[in-house]
Amino acid sequence: MTHKILVLPGDGIGPEIIAEAVKVIDVLKSRHGLDVELDEAAIGGAGYDAAGHPLPEETLAKARQVDAVLLGAVGGPQYDALERALRPERGLLGIRKELGLFANLRPALLYPELADASTLKREVVEGLDIMIVRELTGGIYFGEPRGICTLENGEREGFNTLVYSEHEIERIARVAYETAMKRGKRLCSVDKANVLEVSELWREVLIRVGREYPEVELDHMYVDNAAMQLVRAPKQFDVIVTTNMFGDILSDAAAMLTGSIGMLPSASLNEKGQGMYEPIHGSAPDIAGQGMANPLATILSVAMLLRHSLGNAELAERVEKAVGAVLRQGLRTADLAKPGESAVGTAAMGDAVVAALG
Ligand code: NAD
Repeated sequence: MTHKILVLPGDGIGPEIIAEAVKVIDVLKSRHGLDVELDEAAIGGAGYDAAGHPLPEETLAKARQVDAVLLGAVGGPQYDALERALRPERGLLGIRKELGLFANLRPALLYPELADASTLKREVVEGLDIMIVRELTGGIYFGEPRGICTLENGEREGFNTLVYSEHEIERIARVAYETAMKRGKRLCSVDKANVLEVSELWREVLIRVGREYPEVELDHMYVDNAAMQLVRAPKQFDVIVTTNMFGDILSDAAAMLTGSIGMLPSASLNEKGQGMYEPIHGSAPDIAGQGMANPLATILSVAMLLRHSLGNAELAERVEKAVGAVLRQGLRTADLAKPGESAVGTAAMGDAVVAALG
């Protein structure tokens, strides 16, 4: 069966890094029997320029029809003055919501060759391999009621609602347990059950779903402790599962343990197994158009796409190994190079990965 992938280059360095990921896909098609069809559409600022909206109807219609979406990045200073609803980032939130992408998988994997790029000591991070499973479409970012009101005494009050229903917790728990089963079979659920009722329910559901996965060792940790443990002894973690806001914060901290924003991919999945795959970094307007962006996070997003939406772990590993190989060869884009070390450009890095694919 031919799988369909929609490519959304977006803004800034988006088109440059996506071009390298597409090179990789083309080689997997021509040399390794990957059966996929690619289509392309506009999102973010590019969507606004093309169709007057950051998530054009045509883009969304195409996204609904495919097995997976591969996104570059969105955003740029030229769009900052637009009204909020038309800003590029709205395109991203919109597509996540419309496709029901409730499970965000963010690995924090340290390549041994890059151990010195981390701000933490080598011995603390060497061998780091964490997967954070973050709930993406619920919790306090979406809960109602929300707003800012004026009280009787004239003072203004801002409020949001942290709400999770059992089914929302259950489905993210399942993704987390399934992920743990494919890895080290250890799951740490992060909550604030000592203070929040919603966390009590979260814990209860995690334990209940866990009965279906007796091989997975479940642990609970309060979010404040988890933040501390992530920088104290991050290697204790295998899979972490948590709510939208806690995951937002912890996954950025975990990403920085690896010291390289240009290296980290992500996946966002819905209940049908459809997914959107993207690097965790933004559109890097400061280096856009200069051919110096690191394409590896986007190429590693292709590996996640192969594994999670196309069920092709073999080719996913091939891509991941090719990335490891180019790092071992000493190739570094500017963001990874140490002072005095020479750097390669975006296209040269992509070409090296293609060559290493075999
Ligand atoms: P950013 O991630 O774009 O850039 C932060 C820093 O990291 C910059 O110095 C940039 O040059 C560098 N960087 C990022 N990716 C890189 C790569 N692949 N190779 C080399 N260096 C890289 O974050 P920002 O500067 O805060 O935001 C810029 C724009 O991106 C904003 O409009 C923001 O809203 C948007 N943004 C988009 C996404 C997304 O599309 N998922 C995520 C975050 C930010």
